Amino acid sequence: MSHDLSPAELLRYSRHLLIPAVGLEGQVKLKHSSVLLIGPGGLGSPAALYLAAAGVGRLGLVDPDVVDASNLQRQILHGESWIGKPKLDSAIARLHEINPHVTVDAHPVRFTPDNAMELAAGYDLLLDGCDNFPTRFLTNDTAFLLGKPLVYGAIHRFEGQVGVFTPHLGGPCYRCLLPALPPPGAVPSCAEAGVLGVLPGIIGSLQAMEAIKLILGIGTPPLGRLICYDALQSSFRSLKLNRDPHCRLCGEHPDIHSVTNHETTAPTTCATPNPNMETITTSELRTVLADHFDGLLIDVREPGEHELANIPQARLIPLATLPLQLDTLPRDREILVLCKAGGRSARAVQFLTENGFPNVRNVVGGMDAWLAGK
Ligand SMILES: [Zn+2]
Repeated sequence: MSHDLSPAELLRYSRHLLIPAVGLEGQVKLKHSSVLLIGPGGLGSPAALYLAAAGVGRLGLVDPDVVDASNLQRQILHGESWIGKPKLDSAIARLHEINPHVTVDAHPVRFTPDNAMELAAGYDLLLDGCDNFPTRFLTNDTAFLLGKPLVYGAIHRFEGQVGVFTPHLGGPCYRCLLPALPPPGAVPSCAEAGVLGVLPGIIGSLQAMEAIKLILGIGTPPLGRLICYDALQSSFRSLKLNRDPHCRLCGEHPDIHSVTNHETTAPTTCATPNPNMETITTSELRTVLADHFDGLLIDVREPGEHELANIPQARLIPLATLPLQLDTLPRDREILVLCKAGGRSARAVQFLTENGFPNVRNVVGGMDAWLAGK
């Protein structure tokens, strides 16, 4: 067959060319394909590395952040010398080092309802590596409305999930699985719950494999199935997912026709889950604590987190034990609540408010912001 692979590319991809299901034809398909990775973090790092190495011709990366030292435990695209520099600069340098034959498009922006359709329209397939629900809904809605396959991945501590949401090829969309946003703070973020660094490596690699299968049209994608990996039990399970005929996006009578909706426009950070919640910044907290604070500062993190770093004036009451401590808390003084990043403390504030405490505020950004000197 005629093809446009150079001798250098033929040599590079020789192990692919040996596989009958890939071969020269498959390699040419890979070269002429494109994947948009939304959030090249823990999941997107291995996915981008393998897609680039495999010869996927064009990769788009969406991420406005800079490399932080706490990323390096799992975001293997980046190295020590890139701390403080834009993630996309680091990613491009690394991916070109892996494979100079692929094009990497940098989109140093947040993926928002305003730019989602335009950004995604230029790619064959979307790969979801984001870490929050609004962006995940947005990615799902964008993929559905553009009729493009979405390779989904998610992780939590020792467990991960992979799925392919492609209602136009069969199977459900992400909204069939989760019709609405979880309540604010109900699910701790990665930054709060922690994650073992190898886990996104495994799940992101599975995502890269599913993307390559879809591009090549080989094998069976997990349409209508959610692949669940439990690292502690060393087990994979395949959960059957049914398409929801009442799904607001892909169902029989959809009422979502654009990427701008209640779920996609919700705040992407758990630090400000409820716009009506009373809050205090860590810089205001410093001032308050220095000025004979007569209220109570509660730290709702776990003892192990408290041991690593804490504010001496704070009283440690792990979130799960808060209901048992209600009688010991002052109702006539102000209560400020702190956690690691602001998610668990928001739940605590909500709980205390619902239980009749009139003057409760959430410390925005939690210990992370306090330690960063914000
Ligand atoms: Zn659906």
